[in-house]
Amino acid sequence: SKFVTLKNQIEGAPQESYFEIKETSLKQISNDEAQLIVKNLYVSIDPYQLNRMKSHSSTHSATKYANQVKLGQAIDAHGVGRVVVCGDERFKEGDLVVGHLGWEEYTLINTSTADGFFRKIESSEFPPSYYLGVLGTSGLTAYAGFFNVCKPKKGDFVFVSAASGSVGNIVGQYAKLFGCYVVGSAGSNDKVDFLKNKLGFDDAFNYKEETDFDSALKRFFPQGIDIYFDNVGGELLEAAIANMNMFGRIAECGVISEYTNKRRSAPNMLDVIYKRIAIQGFLAVDYTHLFQEFMSFTCDQLRNDKIQAIEDISMGLESIPSAFVGLFNGSNVGKKLVQLE
Ligand code: NDP
Repeated sequence: SKFVTLKNQIEGAPQESYFEIKETSLKQISNDEAQLIVKNLYVSIDPYQLNRMKSHSSTHSATKYANQVKLGQAIDAHGVGRVVVCGDERFKEGDLVVGHLGWEEYTLINTSTADGFFRKIESSEFPPSYYLGVLGTSGLTAYAGFFNVCKPKKGDFVFVSAASGSVGNIVGQYAKLFGCYVVGSAGSNDKVDFLKNKLGFDDAFNYKEETDFDSALKRFFPQGIDIYFDNVGGELLEAAIANMNMFGRIAECGVISEYTNKRRSAPNMLDVIYKRIAIQGFLAVDYTHLFQEFMSFTCDQLRNDKIQAIEDISMGLESIPSAFVGLFNGSNVGKKLVQLE
């Protein structure tokens, strides 16, 4: 079974040379524990993995919710796969499963200790890959972050950064469905065109062509921002705070511009105070109780063509390192996945 492993802990921006592909013999399931061997079909490529690959001290907050990646070992990651060896009576060979698998061809799962995200995919209504994106953690992040953290009102002015990415595009689509005015930022003119003409955003801009984020936001939000769904942090967050309306809400979902860069955002806290802005960090794992509600709402929207599933799929295990590096260069549009067979 081939797998992707990390050679050295990453400093700064990731590069393909940090990774290598190795091979090991297929593991056997134990007779004493409920275990499965899963052949992975799609693996998820996520920015948070970078924070597990850096050399943090053990007290760093990034290590509190995701363990550091061990050098030389297969890198665990969300995936969808098919059960090929079954040692748990609740499953059978051929079942499709989703959950914490790995950047590897086959994963051995201990079903009694698997986390709450591990489950069988019972329905064949949607392609299996959707369970990693629009019907997976990206979707839950967008749903919980937008509806619970941002507490939207119809007509709110909403700004979404990394808007063509996996979480961002879904946030924008939810916000449009809810009746908000939505502007997204993204890193290319093609992405801007996609957001405006394919996904129904009211407006969008290429942040790489803006020299002054504050004046860009004043141009796109002359009446101010009510909700900022932040995926990037950094200077865009500072500019968003400067343009927030009274009692605005900011969902701190991610700060990808800070994952590869030592510069941290320095928000103007006096602005936050005077404008009574609520800034809330959140993690999708805190909202598993919303999972059924999120699935039933989002499946309905997909059935009625009110939401589009945006995926960006590379082929083959060997493409995982470049797919991952691409997240930090903006190569992807929508959910980045690698298909293994
Ligand atoms: P995306 O699909 O959005 O991929 C990352 C995108 O970020 C790229 O396509 C790129 O698009 C943009 N980007 C990369 N570097 C920069 C930069 N320096 N400045 C601005 N934009 C940049 O990934 P996800 O949707 O999976 O994740 C989006 C964010 O949400 C991340 O910050 C992630 O860590 C966070 N997250 C948080 C979760 C939670 O539970 N809180 C769960 C899942 C994700 P572009 O061309 O626009 O630059």
